[in-house]
Amino acid sequence: MEQKERARRLDEADGLKRFRSRFHIPDSTIYLDGNSLGLASVDALASLEKAASEWRSKAIGGWLDAEPDWFSCGERIGAAMAPLVGAAPDEVVMVGSTTANLHSLVATFFRPEGKRRRILADELNFPSDLYALASQIALRGGDPETDLILARSADGRTLDEDSLIALMDETVALVLLPAVLYKSGQLLDMARLTEAAHERGIVIGFDCAHSVGAVPHRFDDDDVDFAFWCTYKHLNGGPGSPAGLFVNRRHFFRDPGLAGWFGYVKERQFDMALHFDHAKSAGGWQMGTPPILSAASLEGALSLFAEAGIEAVRAKSLALTDFLMDLADSRLAPLGFTVGTPREAARRGGHVALEHDEGWRICQALKGRAIIPDFRPPRVIRLAPVALYNSFDEVERTVTALERIIRSGEHETFPAERDAVS
Ligand SMILES: *Cc1c(COP(=O)(O)O)cnc(C)c1O
Repeated sequence: MEQKERARRLDEADGLKRFRSRFHIPDSTIYLDGNSLGLASVDALASLEKAASEWRSKAIGGWLDAEPDWFSCGERIGAAMAPLVGAAPDEVVMVGSTTANLHSLVATFFRPEGKRRRILADELNFPSDLYALASQIALRGGDPETDLILARSADGRTLDEDSLIALMDETVALVLLPAVLYKSGQLLDMARLTEAAHERGIVIGFDCAHSVGAVPHRFDDDDVDFAFWCTYKHLNGGPGSPAGLFVNRRHFFRDPGLAGWFGYVKERQFDMALHFDHAKSAGGWQMGTPPILSAASLEGALSLFAEAGIEAVRAKSLALTDFLMDLADSRLAPLGFTVGTPREAARRGGHVALEHDEGWRICQALKGRAIIPDFRPPRVIRLAPVALYNSFDEVERTVTALERIIRSGEHETFPAERDAVS
């Protein structure tokens, strides 16, 4: 009861609570999966509907006459994301998808030469990134078996920065790491890793799919070379909304590895010149026509971050996850749960990994109680209380539900096999 009261007080003092009503929360659910697919907001849907209506009324004219225009949406929405990542407006562009942007950036920055021909990544990264890196190495005539180094994790959850740095030797041309690890939620020290890479003459980039929108970044201060992220997780852009791409302005002169006409110098794009001249901004890394409808929902969703401020989002996110880990320690640890997320604020992102041998069945039991987590094998239940729409009370109710599920053996009534999308 005392914890219910604590939740009530925290909710009362919450400076962001007004944002909850701007989101469509699926019928009486506690939605804790915003790190996989953020919720629809009134703002995102309004701008999506506006774009649809401009398509109806203006057709081709929408490229320049829609408000805001479609033609420059990549640059404009990129600039809107820049404050979230500590970059200048022209260093960020909205384009592609996480995986496509990884390809385009690695194609730009991976320049195997002499002894330096390897890429350093890690065994805990989202597998898509590793598939993409292996294919990039193969495209350059390398052998992924020897040229893709995967840093190992000592505990299966986290990476150790010292060990990563120890692997940055003279055979490494490029380092690619996640900012926040998708399972454990560990946040890596990007400033330190970047400095270490640069001291050794290595280019470094980060996959920020699990951090942007939950964790403020300082790409310019940290001097990161490149980064990319998706916008349908913490940014609530909508399913498959176009991704973000950052190129440090020091590298604007470089030729994009995968060129296309939307990367042409904007003012002359329609000259249709035969020789490619890329925009000297992140915009140069665009390829083709942007998906206007999903860009529109993203643009609406981003207006909420402009209003709330990423620092306030981070502060509440940390308070929510602190509260969750506290309750897990006192009430769930005795029931076989372990918190797999680092405790220090500077070392974690926006979600908490709760581990249990029966993780998959517990997730289903939670869903049966209209609480939406997600599951990552073999035993991680990911819970993301999101600053803009979740409450402390929901966190408390989730912990109570987990307690009841284990105590009653409710999870044992669910099948042990997993679904195609978990
Ligand atoms: C979500 C996620 C992806 C997804 O990539 P898509 O191209 O959007 O499907 C890639 N990498 C990481 C680390 C992710 O968390």
